[in-house]
Amino acid sequence: MTCKSETITLIGAGLNGPLLAIGLVKRGFLVEIYERRPNMRRVSISAGRSINLALSTRGIHALSQAGFWNEMRKITLPMKGRMMHSTSSELTFQPYGKNETEVINSISRAELNIALMNAAEALGVKIHFQQRCKGVDLKTGALHLHDEQTDEDRTLASSVVIGCDGSASAIRSEMLKLNRFNFSQQYLDYGYKELTIPAGPGGKHALEVNALHIWPRGNYMLIALPNVDGTFACILFLPFEGTDSFAQLTTPATLLEFFQSRFPDAVPLMPNLATNFFANPTGSMVTVKCSPWHVEGRTLLLGDAAHAIVPFFGQGINCGFEDCTCLLDLLDRHGADWKRVFAEFEDARKVNTDAIADMAVENFVEMRDRVADPRFLFRKKVEFALEAKFPQLFVPKYAMVTFHRVPYATALKRGQVQDSMLTELCAQIERIEDLDWNKADRLVRSQLTPLELPS
Ligand SMILES: Cc1cc2nc3c(=O)[nH]c(=O)nc-3n(C[C@H](O)[C@H](O)[C@H](O)COP(=O)(O)OP(=O)(O)OC[C@H]3O[C@@H](n4cnc5c(N)ncnc54)[C@H](O)[C@@H]3O)c2cc1C
Repeated sequence: MTCKSETITLIGAGLNGPLLAIGLVKRGFLVEIYERRPNMRRVSISAGRSINLALSTRGIHALSQAGFWNEMRKITLPMKGRMMHSTSSELTFQPYGKNETEVINSISRAELNIALMNAAEALGVKIHFQQRCKGVDLKTGALHLHDEQTDEDRTLASSVVIGCDGSASAIRSEMLKLNRFNFSQQYLDYGYKELTIPAGPGGKHALEVNALHIWPRGNYMLIALPNVDGTFACILFLPFEGTDSFAQLTTPATLLEFFQSRFPDAVPLMPNLATNFFANPTGSMVTVKCSPWHVEGRTLLLGDAAHAIVPFFGQGINCGFEDCTCLLDLLDRHGADWKRVFAEFEDARKVNTDAIADMAVENFVEMRDRVADPRFLFRKKVEFALEAKFPQLFVPKYAMVTFHRVPYATALKRGQVQDSMLTELCAQIERIEDLDWNKADRLVRSQLTPLELPS
């Protein structure tokens, strides 16, 4: 068993690394983080860091436990629902939750990252920048680091290493060399591009501020999340190849023509469209599943390193922060019995991270296509009506994932049952008044048990 004066080494000062470090330091451990990138507080933020994230209950719970949410909420903006923009520039609003408390929160990834690193350092965590982990000896814990500034390699002894190094984890690559290590990665045929809507006159938001804006176009979409400085962080999701794809948008003229016909109301809001588009790289999206996540009590994967998911449920970091909550709870229960803590951590989390990975892929179709379908919007209304009538029995899947800390695997399972109920109940009706409440009562009470909603 490791004693608390030993140093825990984290690889990656993205979002999970510093939050986990804060929790560990508060429990008396010494923590050092090795990060490949330069210190983003001193150099300009590179592409990929300027996107906004939707923070929801699981992430907020973890930040609250770290004593950090009250500070953070000052730089978030609540988004009460989706604002859909049609090709003829009509707007339709669809609330996320049953009331105004059920919102998701837009936050700049860079600002969250900086705030977490500041807080970790203030507690004594040492973050070493421009130190790329090249690998780890899983038997001895010897860490191989490359100094990106001096171009020198060195080896460092470690007792416990936690890989918080994201979807292309170097620690996971090392585990891939082990016998019977399970690994799958599935790329989408879609890429994404960061774009911006600048603030309007007087620093005002150019669109409704308390909404996540979506231009759903069947096979692809544009989204925009508000920032506190009056701007919107936008992401264009398009196929890499084929009709309406990144491959076709090769000149400012083709880009402008595409935007004018597909997203006409967005064009006047994006004066720097072509500059942003051609300056920013096209990102790819991958689902990674693997196991085991740990080697003895020495090495562990956490966050995207263990389970990268596509961004369409807005859960990647919420899920990663929930990993931190779970790991820290286990440490509180078992002390620094790392072997046991790591094994129980994977047992508790893997089934749930697999579930959110699958739900995130499914949600892409919902966001880019189904939200524009009046039948889908009607089903959403029926869902809210059922939730109001049968609280704790019928809780929409989106709410279970986003507004509660119900295990993701439970949300997936109950969501499937509820989906077939909705199909049956909505089959031949167009108005909520025509809902067969006797049938609804029978279906709900026979197929759903009361749901425990962790606070
Ligand atoms: C377009 C997009 C939109 C998203 N939207 C949302 C959202 O709305 N809500 C949400 O919850 N999630 C969202 N996510 C997911 C979220 O960004 C990730 O789940 C989250 O960043 C994972 O955190 P992490 O700390 O595990 O990894 P990362 O944030 O990727 O951090 C990993 C860190 O490790 C460092 N690193 C990598 N390799 C090495 C190495 N060899 N040596 C040293 N350091 C290394 C990296 O430089 C990085 O700083 C989105 C993701 C994308 C791509």
